[in-house]
Amino acid sequence: MTPEEFRSAGHELIDWLADLRTSVPDRPVLAQVDPGQVAGEFSAEPPQGTQSFGQLMAELDSVVVPGLTQTLHPMHFGWFPSNAALSSVLGDIACSGISALGISWESNPSLTEVEQVTCDWMRQLIGLSDQWEGSIQDTASTACLVSMLVARERASGLAQNTGGTQAITQPLVVYTTAQAHSSVAKAALLAGFGWDNVRKVETDPATYAMIPAALEQAIERDLAAGNKPAAIVAAVGTTGTTAIDPVAAIVAIAQRHDCFVHVDAAMAGSVMLLPEYRHLWDGIEGVDAISWNPHKWMGTILDCSLLYFRDIALVEEIMATNPSYLRSNADGAVPQLRDRGIPLGRRFRALKLLFHLRLDGIESIKNRLRRDLENAQWLLQRVEASEHWEVCAPVPLQTICVRHRPDGLSGPELDEHTLAWVGRINQSGAAYLTPSILDGEWMVRVSIGVEATEREHVEALWELMQSACNTR
Ligand SMILES: *Cc1c(COP(=O)(O)O)cnc(C)c1O
Repeated sequence: MTPEEFRSAGHELIDWLADLRTSVPDRPVLAQVDPGQVAGEFSAEPPQGTQSFGQLMAELDSVVVPGLTQTLHPMHFGWFPSNAALSSVLGDIACSGISALGISWESNPSLTEVEQVTCDWMRQLIGLSDQWEGSIQDTASTACLVSMLVARERASGLAQNTGGTQAITQPLVVYTTAQAHSSVAKAALLAGFGWDNVRKVETDPATYAMIPAALEQAIERDLAAGNKPAAIVAAVGTTGTTAIDPVAAIVAIAQRHDCFVHVDAAMAGSVMLLPEYRHLWDGIEGVDAISWNPHKWMGTILDCSLLYFRDIALVEEIMATNPSYLRSNADGAVPQLRDRGIPLGRRFRALKLLFHLRLDGIESIKNRLRRDLENAQWLLQRVEASEHWEVCAPVPLQTICVRHRPDGLSGPELDEHTLAWVGRINQSGAAYLTPSILDGEWMVRVSIGVEATEREHVEALWELMQSACNTR
């Protein structure tokens, strides 16, 4: 494809994308396709020859679009807000079009330096001090894995320089809770800690937050058993209920036992853009690593996960590679972002943040978050005031966990009822909610925060929920 052909097809593609965005509210939220349906539309053999751009777009329209679940739909209340602000989409397109090769500072100085600048802007925007150095990772899962690798090396006195994990004789232990995201245990396992050394610290039955005294006891039990407490992963905003582990108390315990602390704020990090919410992570300056996803609620298109370390020199010591073909005269004077994570090659993801911040502006982003928090409180009040409806967990942010409990229903019958009413809503395509298990019983999470979701949509959802339960 020549640049001129690209120009003309590119204009068409942008028009197509703008039309698709405009059509989102008229589409079903949940993709109405059966398993295998999309793949079945393609021939099993690879294509020979070429097609016109128009034919390709027709294929997208007829085959691909029906298989898109519309997470940008104003009636999408599932999983978490996975916003993709169009300003940041432009940044993503710019990132692809520039096609930067990020393997060293020299391979693209702008890539490294714009990433440094935007990470530092984001640091300031969420109120962190200048002791933090950040980088952009693909996801919070990768960020947590990087943290667990650093924690393992820190606790083992850099075992990688000798026998590695195979020579570590004292078991290293990671502490988290059963409410932590599945990526936390995955990171601990991949980093070699092993299931036997992942502790699920007890949580408060009312708030679902880690109980500091239980953490301390677990650490003491491990010390008595000859194990080495290595890392604590605290969640600021758990996946299930957006519970907030008490960071300050955890930091105090970690300091007594020389434990690494990683804060997973993948979802809730966005709320720290609002100064009035920063008390939720009081003590944050004392942790070792923080990750959060602008690619969730804040709305910078996936993939854009920020990972900040307090001691970046340690990270670079552990992650550094310096093959001869990547050496340059700038070494030592500039950061090598490959040494702050796992991949060598990186995309120019900072452009997504740059475009998002420059074109939408932080004030409009903050206003949107405040709107969502108010909408969550509105729904909370409705549910609380309604007979047979219950709120299952505190609502510190924008996620409300609910159950509808008709008289006399409990146990498996209640579960059946819950899955039935949420299934009716989801299958209809009118809205989407995520059922999830809390305390052994199914409940339904309402996660508010899609860019297009206004109060009227939350009102419409509440109507739908009530009629799906025949309470209206
Ligand atoms: C979404 C989420 C994750 C995982 O995020 P990815 O970027 O998809 O890996 C981890 N932790 C929490 C608390 C989350 O909400």
